[in-house]
Amino acid sequence: MIKAKKKFGQNFLKDESVLAKIIESMPNNDNKVAEIGPGLGDLTKFLVNVKSVEAFEVDTELCTLLQEKFSKELKSGKLHLHCGDVLEAWQGHLLNERYDLVANLPYYIATNIILRALADAKCENVLVMVQLEVARKFCAASGEKDFGALSVIAQSVAECAITQIVPPESFTPAPKVDSAVMLLKKHTNRSDEKFEQFLKVCFKQPRKTLQKNLSSVYDKQELSKLFEKLNFKPTIRPHELSTDDYHQLYTLLTK
Ligand code: SAM
Repeated sequence: MIKAKKKFGQNFLKDESVLAKIIESMPNNDNKVAEIGPGLGDLTKFLVNVKSVEAFEVDTELCTLLQEKFSKELKSGKLHLHCGDVLEAWQGHLLNERYDLVANLPYYIATNIILRALADAKCENVLVMVQLEVARKFCAASGEKDFGALSVIAQSVAECAITQIVPPESFTPAPKVDSAVMLLKKHTNRSDEKFEQFLKVCFKQPRKTLQKNLSSVYDKQELSKLFEKLNFKPTIRPHELSTDDYHQLYTLLTK
């Protein structure tokens, strides 16, 4: 029997109803699927029934198991298996054709992977299992306490929604926290590094006022005038503005 390796973030998804719901939530298109971390192949088994799949697995022991388990699909070309670290394989585009990322992600690199997928012009949709806390950071609406830099980055390029919340008991071994599946439907690609640096300043101290955070970089008087012009209260907190407000503020502050 294979023992789950903590260092690779291995929590295997065993609940078939959760797996079936992931498949139901997949966008209806002809795109290839990239699966990061097929693990024991429980999600892969469902994916190869509906799509052509490129899977990336870092654990050599699991790679050997997957090669045996999916020998038919590997032969027919329904599945390609890349054994190694996906972050090393990912140079610009993960695949050289249009694809959707569908995966139960290793949590220790989940945010990094999602941000890469949002920047990758070949990736059109991201349907992934992550920690619930992380899903909330990407999908929170303006005004909610979790609305932060990740929400603005993601919602600048995609429509974001949590499709299901998954309890620890659905996995073996069970993680310590709840998980969630989220769907990010991209309409464009993440590309503006300077805007993201600006967001870091805006959300540096999320409980302080936005003006206070911005005043570490911009002139206080200029900020007061601009906030008045845009009808933003001087006491507004960073999570209270919308994604569009952030783009407008950035354009005016940097022109
Ligand atoms: N998809 C399986 C499931 O749903 O049961 C396993 C998911 S488990 C949360 C994460 C998987 O990602 C593990 O199989 C782990 O070995 C793999 N993984 C971790 N780091 C990786 C990396 N850098 N590149 C590729 N795969 C990785």
